[in-house]
Amino acid sequence: MIKIYSKMKTFFLMIIVPTLVGCGGGGGGGGSDAPPAPGIRYISSDTVDANDILENIKITNLPSWGSDTQQHQNFNLKRWDYETTLIPVKHKDVPLVIKSMDEIEDRLGFTIFDRDSLSNVADGSVTAGIIISIGTANYANINGGPAIGGERQCGLASAGIPSLENPDNAYFPNFVYDENGVVNAKLYIHLGSTFHPSGIDCYKGSTDLTIHEFGHALGVLRHFTGGFNGNSRYAYTDPDGTNVLYAETPNDNFWNVLRNIYNNNINETAENLTITQYY
Ligand SMILES: [Zn+2]
Repeated sequence: MIKIYSKMKTFFLMIIVPTLVGCGGGGGGGGSDAPPAPGIRYISSDTVDANDILENIKITNLPSWGSDTQQHQNFNLKRWDYETTLIPVKHKDVPLVIKSMDEIEDRLGFTIFDRDSLSNVADGSVTAGIIISIGTANYANINGGPAIGGERQCGLASAGIPSLENPDNAYFPNFVYDENGVVNAKLYIHLGSTFHPSGIDCYKGSTDLTIHEFGHALGVLRHFTGGFNGNSRYAYTDPDGTNVLYAETPNDNFWNVLRNIYNNNINETAENLTITQYY
C-alpha cells in the first residue's frame, strides 16, 4: 500500500524540471548563456492547432489534481480567479522573476499578478499566493546528495521548502482549488539548486525555467509534450551525428494553453471551452 501510494503520489503530484535551463532555448531564441554541448542542437516543436490545444488542456489542467480522497473531484477548468483578486506573488525583487511576470502578462494582455501585497509579509504568514524561493529546488538526501531529481534539477513548484525534515514540501500541495475550480493556495516556486553544476544561478540563462514554473502554479499543472515536457527530448539524429532535441522550453504551444486557460471561465466543461489558436 505504501509503495503504491508513493508511486501514485510521484506520478500525480511531483512537478519537477530537471534540465530546462540546460536546454539552450532552442527554436524560440530562449538564449541560454551556455552553448549546447558539442553534438547536440535544439529545435522547438511544431505549433499545434485548436484541437490539439484542447488535448493539451485535457492533459495539463482538466483532470482532478489529486486522488478522490485528496481533492475535490473537478474535471472542469481550474485556475486562479484573478478577475476578483489578483494573484499575490512574493517575488522578492528577483529580476528574472519580474521579467517573467511581465512576459506572462504581456502574452495574456491583462494584469493577473498582485506584486505588492506580500512584500512585507513573512513567508510563514502567507496564506495564499506564490512565493519565490531561490536555491531551494533540491535538498540533500540522507547521503548528502540531491534528493529529488539529480543534480540537473533547477526548478520546482511545490507546497513549501523541501528538506529532510519536511520532504512532502517537494510535492505540489493538495486542496489548492475549491469545488468550483477556483485555485487559491500557498505555492512555492523554487529556482536554483546548490547541487546543480551551475549552482543556484542555474535558472538565470533565460526566463524559460521561471516561466515554466509559473505555468505549474497558474494551472498548467501537468507536463505535456511539445512545449511543456519538463525536459528536452530526442527528435532525431542529423547525418553528421548531431543529436537533435526538442527544447521543451515555453513555446507557442505553451502560450496557447496558458492563454486559453485564462480566457475561459473557471469551471467551464471541456465541451464548452472556447479554444483560440493565438499563435
Ligand atoms: Zn515542470
